[in-house]
Amino acid sequence: MDAMTEQQVRRSFINCSRGEASGLTLPREFGQLALAELALLGWRDAKAPLRGYLVVPQGDGPVGVSLRAADTRMSSRTPAMCLLCQTAQSGDAISLFTARRSGEAGRNGNTVGTYICADLRCAERARSEIPPWLRERDPEEVAEERVAELRERVDGFLDAVRKA
Ligand SMILES: [Zn+2]
Repeated sequence: MDAMTEQQVRRSFINCSRGEASGLTLPREFGQLALAELALLGWRDAKAPLRGYLVVPQGDGPVGVSLRAADTRMSSRTPAMCLLCQTAQSGDAISLFTARRSGEAGRNGNTVGTYICADLRCAERARSEIPPWLRERDPEEVAEERVAELRERVDGFLDAVRKA
């Protein structure tokens, strides 16, 4: 599979207008990423502080969702967990994100929300942050499992965004 082009990414969004999708800021390292090999590309918009995006490569092309972070943050003393990559972190590293549902539901103001790593870099974290109870196992095998589970949860989230 070829790497995704900028145009493919901008066209992949299922819950924002074409205008919004063409105006969003791509991640700085976009040109250097081996996007097809990533389980998930997630980033915050450098020019719109509460905006973030998830783009998931799929067999028939990428699927993207636009997200909005809550403007309140949890305390750094509160333990929290990302519900996509299931990495335990301090509360200030996790944010509640909402996604407008696609289609008519979204136009009527319907959203779905979930707690995700504030920087949206779950794909890296699924590989690098191995929980202590899994550290006796083969690290590559554990990383593969964590990435596969991340994909399942992200696909579930995409389904919720798409559900009519
Ligand atoms: Zn995460």
